[in-house]
Amino acid sequence: MRAGDTTKMLKMIVCIKQVPMVSELPWDPKTGVLTRDAAEGMMNPACKSALEAALRLKEEHNGQITAITMGPPMAMEVLHEALAMGADRCLMLSDPKMAGADTQVTSFTLARAIEIFCSDYDLILCGCHTSDSETAQVGPQIAEELDIPSAAYVENLSVKGKTIRIERIADHFLETLEMDLPGLVTVTTGHFTPRYIPIGGLQDAFGEPNILTVGAHDLSLDENTIGLKGSPTKILEVFSSTAGKKNVVLTGAPKKIVEELFKRFDDTIGSVIRKDLKAVK
Ligand SMILES: Cc1cc2nc3c(=O)[nH]c(=O)nc-3n(C[C@H](O)[C@H](O)[C@H](O)COP(=O)(O)OP(=O)(O)OC[C@H]3O[C@@H](n4cnc5c(N)ncnc54)[C@H](O)[C@@H]3O)c2cc1C
Repeated sequence: MRAGDTTKMLKMIVCIKQVPMVSELPWDPKTGVLTRDAAEGMMNPACKSALEAALRLKEEHNGQITAITMGPPMAMEVLHEALAMGADRCLMLSDPKMAGADTQVTSFTLARAIEIFCSDYDLILCGCHTSDSETAQVGPQIAEELDIPSAAYVENLSVKGKTIRIERIADHFLETLEMDLPGLVTVTTGHFTPRYIPIGGLQDAFGEPNILTVGAHDLSLDENTIGLKGSPTKILEVFSSTAGKKNVVLTGAPKKIVEELFKRFDDTIGSVIRKDLKAVK
């Protein structure tokens, strides 16, 4: 079946990224790459909302959901979680050669996998952005790679035949758009609060999980076009910002404190309240 044939079933792909727990974001200062193995992982919140959106469409349209992730072996956890929530099958892209990909190469690799392993899709859903890198580039770039239309920051959606109707907030206005399928949307966390995992879902996730794992070879990808090697974006330096200010406690009588305050911060205070305090004295 070709992409966009919705006569039988709404076929959806949800791209899911595992991100480090917000409390643990270790960087390798030498390479500028996140040391993902050292942190506990979780499903990126916006990806979870994209999955929830797909699950609601699945219930309404007799749909089928394929969840895809690219990441190190530990990223398999988010696919188990996707199966437990209600995804039907999963594709895991994992290969040391894929490590260190920038957003362009991430999108390229995901698009190649979609073309090879699940080209009969109607709708691709991504999160609007991730909680670790947060570029919001991967979704629209996948659409470019696949030459399909896309809409970002979708708050609500519904599908009728081969058309998707989308609502999103743009410049404080609620926009309603229609797009032909096959297409891609990136979903915000606002409307699609993820469901709790049902007990039966655990059986689907851990019984005989429907997960296909593939590497660069299965995608016929040259190692120079993927991962860190193939990425045109390089991180030159990573540092943690540190506060350069010192706290000063002024003591003594109130009059003395105020005088000291103006002595030290006259220019700063004056510029904030737009008065030349020296001239006022
Ligand atoms: C300037 C810059 C340079 C970078 N350079 C490097 C580098 O040299 N080496 C390096 O390791 N990393 C680098 N990164 C991080 C790397 O680009 C991202 O981890 C990765 O490409 C995904 O981008 P993102 O997290 O911003 O995704 P976003 O575009 O914010 O993600 C949007 C959505 O796309 C989908 N998605 C994103 N990533 C995946 C995935 N892996 N699998 C499945 N779906 C996915 C999800 O649905 C997600 O919700 C860099 C980031 C920036 C901002």
